[in-house]
Amino acid sequence: MISLQHVSKTFNVGKKKVEALKDVSLTIQKGEIVGVIGYSGAGKSTLIRCVNLLERPTSGKVLINDVDITSINKKELQKVRQKIGMIFQGYNLLKTATVYENIAIPLRLEGVPKEEIITRVEKYLNIVGLSEKHHVYPGQLSGGQKQRVAIARALAHEPEILLSDEATSALDPNTTESILDLLLQVNKELGITIFLITHELDVIQRICDRVAVMQNGEIVEEGKVLDIFSNPKHLRTKQFVYGEAGIKVPNHFVDKLPKSGKIVSLTFIGESSKDPFLALLAKQFDVLPSILAGGIDQLKDQSVGKLIVHIDGEASEVEKSINFLNEKNILVEEVNQ
Ligand code: ADP
Ligand code: MG
Repeated sequence: MISLQHVSKTFNVGKKKVEALKDVSLTIQKGEIVGVIGYSGAGKSTLIRCVNLLERPTSGKVLINDVDITSINKKELQKVRQKIGMIFQGYNLLKTATVYENIAIPLRLEGVPKEEIITRVEKYLNIVGLSEKHHVYPGQLSGGQKQRVAIARALAHEPEILLSDEATSALDPNTTESILDLLLQVNKELGITIFLITHELDVIQRICDRVAVMQNGEIVEEGKVLDIFSNPKHLRTKQFVYGEAGIKVPNHFVDKLPKSGKIVSLTFIGESSKDPFLALLAKQFDVLPSILAGGIDQLKDQSVGKLIVHIDGEASEVEKSINFLNEKNILVEEVNQ
């Protein structure tokens, strides 16, 4: 079991503080497949790295099988880490070593006996379907095959938990599907608990039992995948589930705007798309909102509207209008220029 309890992580970047995780709590039961979905920068990688303490939380606890690993010594931590395998988007294979060696080297470092290493490499290469590739170098493999080697390498340590940081994000849809099938198989047949992070809804939909949605270092919604899909509550979740209008503002257009104010994208779901919010903004605050682009997607039983708006005015007034929109249940995001 993995239990993250009130985990916060702040990075100091020069004089600036980046709050990558803000009081995140999440429990993953043995044998579950749980996913965290969020956009880039939401804090997903930081969160998953806290599970094996590749990143140490600034505060909060990380329990693995009821042991708080933030308070144990190095040697004990090393032991716990052996139970936790990890795979990444970039595979992290040694280019100058064969497939066999990529799996065998870390086992040797761990002190696994020679005979046992041979058995394990065989076994796990077989499970990932690459028995024929022992003596091939990573450069001769496709992306999907490289990820299979990385999975075999992780499994060869016979972990209880497998962490996956965007493991399928660099793969084409068919290969993604086959890797996800493999993860399902690993979960089912070897009983390995899987905790994954992704920005792709398909991944969650296909293999996860539960999902947590992250935004700005916080979990904004969590639940069984089926529940979340049938009735997403938080705006960010709705955005993932219902898709995005996918509106872009041409650069030359942005260049001509006054440098004051902010460009924001506003996402309206269902009822909130009917009110004249921009008129209200101009009336209640000392700002001038102008629409740069927009569209509405009609879904089965919901409509999702998206507007890109330049809100011109003094910083404090712009801030107030953004707060106002937030209160009205409109998802406001700053658009980087
Ligand atoms: P995600 O995986 O969801 O894209 P990350 O966890 O990588 O998000 O990053 C969350 C935030 O923390 C980002 O603002 C990122 O710039 C910041 N961050 C992550 N790692 C570091 C680090 N080592 N030093 C400083 N800032 C970091
Ligand atoms: Mg990441």
